[in-house]
Amino acid sequence: MSDRATPAGQQVPSQVLRQVCDSVIDNLGERSLRMLFAQSGLQHYYNGGALPPDDDTPSMTVTELSHLFATAFRIFGERGMRPILLRAGRTSLKHFRESNKTLAALAGAAFKVLPTDAKIKLVLSRSAKIAEELLHAPHRTYDTDAGFFVEISACPYCAGSQAEQPICFFPLGFYGEAIRWATGATYPVEEVECIAQGGKHCLIRIGRQPEAV
Ligand SMILES: [Zn+2]
Repeated sequence: MSDRATPAGQQVPSQVLRQVCDSVIDNLGERSLRMLFAQSGLQHYYNGGALPPDDDTPSMTVTELSHLFATAFRIFGERGMRPILLRAGRTSLKHFRESNKTLAALAGAAFKVLPTDAKIKLVLSRSAKIAEELLHAPHRTYDTDAGFFVEISACPYCAGSQAEQPICFFPLGFYGEAIRWATGATYPVEEVECIAQGGKHCLIRIGRQPEAV
């Protein structure tokens, strides 16, 4: 791609693409995955042969990934894509909590004794940092009485899509899993503002209380 020098032209690690591929195959089958790559014009990444490697080698650009997501929303619909992207987000976080030093460090004894709020803030800011470096899109984390927030500017998950409802499901899975890992509890995670819906940013909110079991 000619835009490789621009932020959106940066390449994402192959494993992110691989999580998406595995999820599409499990939910919709291998033929659907082939169709997705063909319709995106990105079949050089997958044409029915070997899947993208499950490692950190540089793969498609952020622009290409956005285009793949936009095509997937168009052909499989938001309801079809929701479980696929939620799962890919969860699995990606699991990958990074083992392979990324910033996150792996949180598994230590000092982290375990922190109050829950501090754990949530720390794990959110560190996983947002990983996402920011991965996707080359600005991420900001903050908290208010209403919850903990991740604000994504120039969001690559929904770029090129328009929707009635928020559609950035990948980060819901990603941050939801980060919080679950850090606290051992499941917290409500929702997207309260989405650029695809006309929002200024994509805004992920994590509730202050865990979901009742
Ligand atoms: Zn978005």
